[in-house]
Amino acid sequence: MFDITAPIYNDADKAREHLESIHWPHGPNCPHCGNVDAARIKRMEGKSTRPGVYKCNDCRKPFSVTVGTVFERSHIPLNKWVLASHLMAASKKGMSAHQLHRMLGVTYKTAWFMAHRIREAMKEDVASSGPIGGEGKTVEADETYIGKRETPRKLARGRVPTYTKSGKSGGAQKRIVVGLVERGGKARMFHLNDATKDTVRDVLVRNTDRASILYTDESRLYTETGTEFAQHRTVKHSAKEYARREGDVVVHSNTIENVFSVFKRGMVGVYQHCGEAHLHRYLAEFDFRYNRRTALGIGDAERASDLLRNARDKRLTYRRIGEAGHA
Ligand SMILES: [Zn+2]
Repeated sequence: MFDITAPIYNDADKAREHLESIHWPHGPNCPHCGNVDAARIKRMEGKSTRPGVYKCNDCRKPFSVTVGTVFERSHIPLNKWVLASHLMAASKKGMSAHQLHRMLGVTYKTAWFMAHRIREAMKEDVASSGPIGGEGKTVEADETYIGKRETPRKLARGRVPTYTKSGKSGGAQKRIVVGLVERGGKARMFHLNDATKDTVRDVLVRNTDRASILYTDESRLYTETGTEFAQHRTVKHSAKEYARREGDVVVHSNTIENVFSVFKRGMVGVYQHCGEAHLHRYLAEFDFRYNRRTALGIGDAERASDLLRNARDKRLTYRRIGEAGHA
């Protein structure tokens, strides 16, 4: 664990310097024009200037390290942002806004807002990281159902669909999450309004390299899409066949079960309730930690630095969160 009394958690200047060392290992870069020549950037000094402000010689604009990050234009001291980020990066099941509110000495509303901004920083940039899996790699896909669906008025987008999970009749009105995980690699979870062959295919083909070996249960959701992958193997969940041997390979979907189980323990034990419109951010939070898990040789400090590094170019305004309603 980390030392909560460390200067970066208690002093805004130290926190800013910490952020600068992560974002600018070779000196300040101008976020306005992209100038990376530290010799053409000068620190602004003077009684009326707050510390950490630089001016670019090329575009003549002032900036600080928080420009273009989720911390931009925040009145919350940067050391509290750094502490909140480190706490959320380190806690396996997540950290509630109530816990943050007590630990940071900010209001509950502020803590709630900070947590959502930090989740925004945890979001993987799928376009730049590309699909998971690949030739000879195994990707498990499955759906899980969590919490209660909200009424269309509360959900504010789309209708509440009636769906039937393959093999079950009826179907409670629960929220649908589709998860993908590469064995020994990364996971990605998605909230779907509707789980159909097409919506599930869309998630699968956008996020999984088709040279992968795909493992799913026998749900009809995957039958057709499975043929688009190098191989498609199925596990019979209905027959309680969670693992079976096929030649020298064991067919199972334990990896995705584990990803879902950590997520569900966090949602039930820590978050208890989240607005459905915010579910995608919680999924991003659990993906972030899973993809930087200890088993991959990533420690708390590295995971936390990675989070602060990812805080760039993902501005989320209070209005955008506010519009979707409070969780
Ligand atoms: Zn510039």
